[in-house]
Amino acid sequence: MVRGRLAPSPTGFLHLGNAWAFWMAWLDVRSRGGRLFLRMEDIDPDRSKHVYSAAIKRDLDWLGLDWDEESPPQSTRYEIYEQVLTGLKKRGLVYRCYCTRKELRTMAGAPQVGDAGAPYPGTCRNLRPEERAGLEAKGRKSALRLLCPTDVPLEFTDRIMGRQTITLTDSGGDFALQRSDGVYAYQLAVVVDDLEAGIDSVVRGGDILASTPRQLYLYSVLGGTPPEYAHLPLIVDHEGERLAKRHDALSLAALKEAGVRPETILGSLLFLSGLRDGYQPAAAGEPLNCLRLESLSPKPITLPSDPTSYFLDLQRGRRIKTAIGLEQP
Ligand code: GLU
Repeated sequence: MVRGRLAPSPTGFLHLGNAWAFWMAWLDVRSRGGRLFLRMEDIDPDRSKHVYSAAIKRDLDWLGLDWDEESPPQSTRYEIYEQVLTGLKKRGLVYRCYCTRKELRTMAGAPQVGDAGAPYPGTCRNLRPEERAGLEAKGRKSALRLLCPTDVPLEFTDRIMGRQTITLTDSGGDFALQRSDGVYAYQLAVVVDDLEAGIDSVVRGGDILASTPRQLYLYSVLGGTPPEYAHLPLIVDHEGERLAKRHDALSLAALKEAGVRPETILGSLLFLSGLRDGYQPAAAGEPLNCLRLESLSPKPITLPSDPTSYFLDLQRGRRIKTAIGLEQP
């Protein structure tokens, strides 16, 4: 039985891009009769808020998405992450990195690799004990980084994005498992949690594809079988920009407030993603028997310039023609 998860970060309200990713993850598990977990990824205490966790659950419910079990939120699992880190330290696989954010920014000559962050050139990899002591005496705080092999290619096949071959160096080099302020890294927490919950299918936004080699490497270091991955095409605004905080008007809460109904959003997503040829309202479970993630195009999904009016017009029965005529990206 396949085991999947919805893993929202309660650092803001869900937007259309999240709705798309969670819906597809839900459909994938439900269409295969699997078990779905909800896990709040509230690893960052400064950015995570209870109001957002509550709002996310409400929004998922509004869309018609349910789950079978709620996993413990990451904020309750710091001891587990610490144990894993201690094990890695004992094996000599992590090292202290004293570089400041500013230093990391200026030393990043190479282009950024997706969301994996600036490549880390290994500055603190081979510090001598006295150098380390000197930095500590100056009050420098340290992050913990995982030693990564430089040029071993990691290969995996994404169900949507296809065959991927990338070295850990190209995906950013030695990456942090714990920040200098003590916050455990997403990469560590997500792998530890997925392993523990026996997650074997991960469906998530295409923006996380760049992190996947790091996570695969962590699976190999921790001795677990990685899940099968499907990274979804990104949803972008009419200018091709990824949805972010400045798209607050596209939060599900704002759309709901404006009178947009969930079936309009879901039907539009089916149409805009090319899964359906024309627009018609859709309930969450509607494509259950016909959805194959593998048939999705990896190309980004472009929203119309004013999605709220677009949705409202569809609901009023207007603009159907425009909707159907809207150019597919
Ligand atoms: N918590 C992450 C997010 O909201 C998702 C992580 C994942 O699916 O691996 O972007």
